[in-house]
Amino acid sequence: MSSKSVLVLGGGIGGVTTATHLADRVGAGASVTLIDRHPTFYQCAHNLELLTRETIDARGAAGRLGALAEKGVRFVEADVRLIDSARRRVETSHGSFEADYLVVALGADLAPEQVPGFRDAAINLYEADGATRAGEVLATLERGRVAVLIARTPFKCPAAPYEFALLTDSILRHRGIRDAVAVDLYTPEWQPMLAAGEKVGAEVARLLAERSIGFHSEEMVLKVDGAKRRLFFETDEAEYDLLLGIPPHIAPAALRASGLTDSSGWVPVAAGTLRTRFPDVYAIGDAAAVRLHNGLFLPMAGVFAFQEGLVVAENIAAAIGGGPSAEFTGEGFCYIDVGDGRAAYGSGNFLARPAPEVTFEAPSVEFKRAKTEFTNAISRSLTSTDGTSS
Ligand SMILES: Cc1cc2nc3c(=O)[nH]c(=O)nc-3n(C[C@H](O)[C@H](O)[C@H](O)COP(=O)(O)OP(=O)(O)OC[C@H]3O[C@@H](n4cnc5c(N)ncnc54)[C@H](O)[C@@H]3O)c2cc1C
Repeated sequence: MSSKSVLVLGGGIGGVTTATHLADRVGAGASVTLIDRHPTFYQCAHNLELLTRETIDARGAAGRLGALAEKGVRFVEADVRLIDSARRRVETSHGSFEADYLVVALGADLAPEQVPGFRDAAINLYEADGATRAGEVLATLERGRVAVLIARTPFKCPAAPYEFALLTDSILRHRGIRDAVAVDLYTPEWQPMLAAGEKVGAEVARLLAERSIGFHSEEMVLKVDGAKRRLFFETDEAEYDLLLGIPPHIAPAALRASGLTDSSGWVPVAAGTLRTRFPDVYAIGDAAAVRLHNGLFLPMAGVFAFQEGLVVAENIAAAIGGGPSAEFTGEGFCYIDVGDGRAAYGSGNFLARPAPEVTFEAPSVEFKRAKTEFTNAISRSLTSTDGTSS
């Protein structure tokens, strides 16, 4: 077996899963290189813990990508600038790379600048610093209106904005000031967690209603006036005192500049294999557009990036050294943190026909414990060989 080269772009959940699983499967049969602009792996799921202060140090929750060498993966810290998919050639801030197989796992970029006023007025919950800051403000807030704003779809983790709203309610209730603070969530979606189906959406809407969290659907924000603390929607306006925002998401610039994206804004792939239209080029995770049978797209979630990474690794390993191929089946799950030490649980098959089949289980202490264990286990398993995360 002659040694092949595999280049994985992006050291998030999808990229690290692909690279480590592949290196494990093929050993000396391939050289596996992973490129990321940051030297550390950080799971955004920890942002929820930063808000509630269950985790107080984002850097402590991060793992070193350089440690992947112990798993047979060479890490290069560089900014990916341009991809020649036909040649599987990548231009970066540290020179160019070519490979027999290319896996694109660059995630989604946050683009707060797409909504005028958003960057200055909103605390960005999807950045660790923003989630930390939001936790600090909620710890001292005395009264007023908190708005949780989903600026655009799609966005990472369909549950996360709802969790932020539910956790905000929980924090304020435990501080004994909930009656003095209104909590509202604004979203362009017509129901929560759109791709999970109507039943799950209704359950999440019920969780919000039970806690007197205002749910304002089909509200697309056009502008934020930070000075007047006002949100401007297509046909509506709203006032706030504290704005917690989820900014628009766009495909990373390198993908857009390389012609890999289509009219969806993301990289189209075959659902079962994550192949792009270019031979031996795959795209996984948030950057990939996996079309569901009902016409919607697979939600951006780490649980999918993880499984897609495994599938792609298996199929590249099979191409290099033989063995069975694998298929992405669309099974997924998520824990929805509702505060008070409890989480709900949704799970099912997103590639079911004619539409995703997803069930919802009521909040429990056990699901919250499972969520914490799952998040920590992902961080540990992806970045360490000895059970530590750095
Ligand atoms: C608050 C929050 C909570 C969440 N909770 C959950 C959860 O409970 N369960 C769940 O399944 N999912 C959750 N998610 C979603 C999950 O984090 C993402 O779906 C997942 O990280 C996607 O993995 P990925 O590998 O595609 O991208 P990422 O993990 O985002 O990795 C992309 C990598 O590419 C790198 N990169 C990007 N552009 C370049 C470039 N030009 N050059 C070099 N490197 C580059 C980035 O630095 C990054 O390391 C949550 C997300 C958020 C924001």
